[in-house]
Amino acid sequence: MEFCSTRNSNLRVSASQAIAQGLSAEGGLFVPCEFPQVDARELCGLAYPALARRVLAAFLTDYDPGQLEEFARQVYGEPFGGKAGHLAKVQDGLYSLELWHGPTCAFKDYALQLMPRLLVQAKKNLGRDETTLILVATSGDTGKAALEGYRDIPGIKIAVFYPDHGTSEIQRLQMATQQGNNVAVYAVDGNFDDAQTGVKRVFGDAAVAQVLARKNVRLSSANSINWGRLVPQIVYYFAAYGQLMRSGAVQYGEPVDFCVPTGNFGDILAGYYAKRMGLPVGRLICASNRNKVLTDFLTTGLYNARREFYRTTSPSMDILVSSNLERLLWHMTGSDQAVAGFMEGLARDGHYQVDDATMEKIRQVFAAGWADDGQAAREIRSRYEQDGYLCDTHTAVAFKVAQEQRSERPMVVLSTASPFKFPRDVLAALGETAPESDFAAMEQLTARTGCAAPRQLADLQGKPERFRDVIRPDEIGKTALDLA
Ligand SMILES: *Cc1c(COP(=O)(O)O)cnc(C)c1O
Repeated sequence: MEFCSTRNSNLRVSASQAIAQGLSAEGGLFVPCEFPQVDARELCGLAYPALARRVLAAFLTDYDPGQLEEFARQVYGEPFGGKAGHLAKVQDGLYSLELWHGPTCAFKDYALQLMPRLLVQAKKNLGRDETTLILVATSGDTGKAALEGYRDIPGIKIAVFYPDHGTSEIQRLQMATQQGNNVAVYAVDGNFDDAQTGVKRVFGDAAVAQVLARKNVRLSSANSINWGRLVPQIVYYFAAYGQLMRSGAVQYGEPVDFCVPTGNFGDILAGYYAKRMGLPVGRLICASNRNKVLTDFLTTGLYNARREFYRTTSPSMDILVSSNLERLLWHMTGSDQAVAGFMEGLARDGHYQVDDATMEKIRQVFAAGWADDGQAAREIRSRYEQDGYLCDTHTAVAFKVAQEQRSERPMVVLSTASPFKFPRDVLAALGETAPESDFAAMEQLTARTGCAAPRQLADLQGKPERFRDVIRPDEIGKTALDLA
């Protein structure tokens, strides 16, 4: 299997190169040049680690299959407590794919637990021996999931930068208490954009690259522009379908719709790959919060990032530039020139317009809707009171949109975070007065619902904080050099 760049279809690299490099030299993203065909029915019958191995092996053809099997066993067994890809029934025909049973209680664990192993192996496959320094700007979930995934991995160091006072207390403590000998965490005096701009500047700084090269260090990123983050997410679409088959809810071949709370368009794009590999996916429904740039795009064909940015109760979806949409546009247009044109428009003017024929193709698979914070809160309450099902603020956005888009087909909502990651907002949604402290809120949420908080979150209370440094955005470069 070869990978090409979305902005240069003639450029072809191996899976190892795509994963080690992250971004193509001219700024494009790596995409598989074709969709591998698998026996989808057979895959749906496999246990999660075996299924993961098969999906990975279909794309990562220059990796040793025995090695992939080992990785899948290590990652999707014990760390997910036997609940990898767990599907819960909410109502007849409505299901929740609970993706938050991993070490950091967010779906990003699926990719970020595996990705370090893929990166180490990619370097081996390519005969490279440099140290990789991973820099991550995060508004919360990605930083913790990346720290947990990369900790103590040989040949890799990781530094995470988050906005000071810009995360929940739980999210901050998850990072500040991080264990591992190759990790560093900094609060940045500014907002998420300041942290992200600071990190991007380091990636583009030739002087920094030169100093690092002398030390045999190469910078890398852990965000979802890397193909290695997408491929593990394809697996759970098969796992969900398999559970629907075993419970008798579908016969193989009947289409199932998926509704996905979306930010960077990575999770939902993985569903598109599953469909193109032969899984009977019906429609993929993109659920946005008030930052509904994707819903507007899917409705009108105009992608317009020049709009007001809102902070919502689903912060991991507070995104105006959804990087992975570029991959879908390449698959749908088949034209690197068209994609390069769109991305130029986005960089230059903050918007681009996609032609009707392409939008027609996209709309055959994708639908969209959105919910504001109030609607999401009401959805949390309805699902709890009517169905006895407790969900977080991100998942609630998708449940709201899923209700609007339901047909006679089964509908699976991707549940991307544990409700205990956002205990104050969830409590408020249930009509309670939320206490100031996240830990008190967790206890109150347990008392109110009888649901237990995940141990890894409850245990944060009283854990020693290892990282307390606050730096200015313009100090990120120097900090990175010191770490190397
Ligand atoms: C990252 C994240 C999302 C958005 O996923 P994308 O792949 O960026 O679309 C949704 N919910 C939660 C809880 C997340 O952490």
